[in-house]
Amino acid sequence: MDRSRAAAGRVTLVGAGPGQADLLTVRAVKALRRATVALVDDLVDPSVLRYLRRSARVVPVGKRGGCVSTPQSFIHRLMVAEARRGEQVVRLKGGDPFVFGRGGEEVDALRGAGIEVEVISGLTAGIAGPAAIGIPVTDRRCAPGVVLVTGHTRAGGEGPDWEGLARSGLTLVVYMGTQRVAEIVQVLRAGGLADDTPAAVISAAHTARQRHARCTLGSLVQTLRAEPKLGSPAVLVIGAVAALGEVAAAQPAAAAAAAAERPGQRRATGG
Ligand code: SAH
Repeated sequence: MDRSRAAAGRVTLVGAGPGQADLLTVRAVKALRRATVALVDDLVDPSVLRYLRRSARVVPVGKRGGCVSTPQSFIHRLMVAEARRGEQVVRLKGGDPFVFGRGGEEVDALRGAGIEVEVISGLTAGIAGPAAIGIPVTDRRCAPGVVLVTGHTRAGGEGPDWEGLARSGLTLVVYMGTQRVAEIVQVLRAGGLADDTPAAVISAAHTARQRHARCTLGSLVQTLRAEPKLGSPAVLVIGAVAALGEVAAAQPAAAAAAAAERPGQRRATGG
C-alpha cells in the first residue's frame, strides 16, 4: 500500500445512544470532533450533531420501517467512496451500532473493501430505555437474564422462537415491536406466559418526547392503542422486572406519582 493510500480515510461506526447528547461516550465525542463527513441515521437525536466541526458534511441516511429509506448497499458504497477520498467518516447510529443496527454488515462491507474501520459502542435503547423509568432489566431477584429481540423480522426471514422465550424466565426486551404487538402477545400467551406478567413500554427514551406506560402482558395491546404517543421508536419490556423501579425512576416527579399506584395498573406519562 503506498503512503497516500495508508494515510487515507477511515470509517468509525459510532453509537449515538438513544437520545440526548450527554449520553454519548467520551470516545464517541472524540470521533465526532475528528469527522469530516457524518452519515447519520434518523434515530440519532439532532443534539448529538453539536460535536461535529462546523465544516463537517452531514449526510442523512435514515431508513425507518415503512418510510422512504436509503438502501443499505448505497450506504456501503458511500462509506467506501468517502473513505477512499481520504475523508474521516463517522457513521452515526442510534443506540449501539451492533444492536439491531446493521453494524456487523457495515463492518464486513468496509473490511471487504480494504477500509479501516473502528466501532464505538453506545447505550442501547433496550437497556437505557427501561433504565430511564427505573427498570433494571436483569434484577437478580426476578430475572436471571435478558433477551434483546426484534419484533420486526425481515420479510421471509425466520422469527424468534417466541414460545420458547415465553418459557425462558428471562426479561424480554422487544425492539421494533409496536406494530406487531398483538401477534407477539398472542404467541407469548400460547407459550404459557401469564396475562398478569408485568410489562412496560418506553417510547422515545432519553429524548424530550419520552413517554412510558406500565401495564401487564394482558393489557399491553390496549395500552398501546389507547396512547398514540407511545408509538415508535419504543421498546417493550415483558417480565417481572417491568414492575420494578418506579420509585427509582429518573424523573423524581413522575416517580412520586408512580409510587402511589400499584404495579400492573396502566399509566402513560410524559418524561
Ligand atoms: N441500535 C439501536 C436500535 C436500532 S433498531 C439501539 O441499540 O438502541 C430501532 C429500534 O430501537 C426502535 O424501533 C425501537 O424499538 C428502539 N429504539 C431506538 N431508540 C429508542 C428510544 N430513544 N426509545 C425507545 N426505543 C428506541
